[in-house]
Formats: sequence, structure tokens, C-alpha cells
Amino acid sequence: MAMSDTQLKSALDTLKTTGVRITPQRHAILEYLIETMSHPTADDIYKALEHKFPNMSVATVYNNLRVFRESGLVRELTYGDNASRFDFVTTKHYHIICELCGKIVDFHYPGLDEVEHLAAHVTGFKVNSHRLEVYGTCPDCEEKATKLQ
Ligand SMILES: [Zn+2]
Ligand SMILES: [Zn+2]
Repeated sequence: MAMSDTQLKSALDTLKTTGVRITPQRHAILEYLIETMSHPTADDIYKALEHKFPNMSVATVYNNLRVFRESGLVRELTYGDNASRFDFVTTKHYHIICELCGKIVDFHYPGLDEVEHLAAHVTGFKVNSHRLEVYGTCPDCEEKATKLQ
């Protein structure tokens, strides 16, 4: 079984155990999230799947994504005024974001647990999570920029 099939199967199992009905649309949206790994917006997902589900609206996609988020399968990423991007939750990872085209790429780095411990220690807070994003120019945009010079 391919990695993405295993992920899809366990995601569907999670939905079943939380009592969420698995409709063909939900199945397709999950599959798309797992396969693309591109952190799509609801609109991207809608455009990719509208040929399969002519009656589906962007609002339906949003509603399904909210269901997935509540089941802990999907993480919603918000960046300023831009539309939310959705990320299938696998392992903990960080994001690097292209400032020109908005592409988001995953990278792994040993969790910054020490930062959480230090923050808790110096502030007395109970720490739940942290958020770190790295910004730059992706290789594609960098290449385009050099060609223009
Ligand atoms: Zn880029
Ligand atoms: Zn990600």
C-alpha cells in the first residue's frame, strides 16, 4: 500500500470513530489533501474537484474542511488577509513560505520543545503550542527572477 493510501485509510477510520459520515465528497477532499501536499485553499480544492462534483459549492468544501479540522485531521493555516490554507495533519512540521508566489513547503526540524520549556519557565504560562514560519523565495521564483535580470 502506498503511503498516501495508508494515510487516507487511517483518516477515514478516524472519521468513522468520531461518527462523521463519509460522503463521496469528503472522501475526494481528503484524498486531494493527502496527495497534493500543497496546502491548498478551499478554492483550490473546489477547482480541482468541481468536475467530479458539479453540484458542490465552495461553501460545501469549507464545511467539510471544518469537519476535518474538528476531527483533528486537518490544520487550518491563516496568514494575514489571505485565504486560509489547509494542511493534512501528519507529523509535526514547520513551514517555509515563498513571499512571491505564496507556495508553502513542509520541513522537519526537531521540535522547538526547549523554546516552549523556556517560555513556560520565564513566564509561568502553561504552554500548549508554538508557531514558527520561515519566509523566503522559492527555487522557481528565484530562477524566474535571475532570468529577468
Ligand atoms: Zn515562489
Ligand atoms: Zn504543512
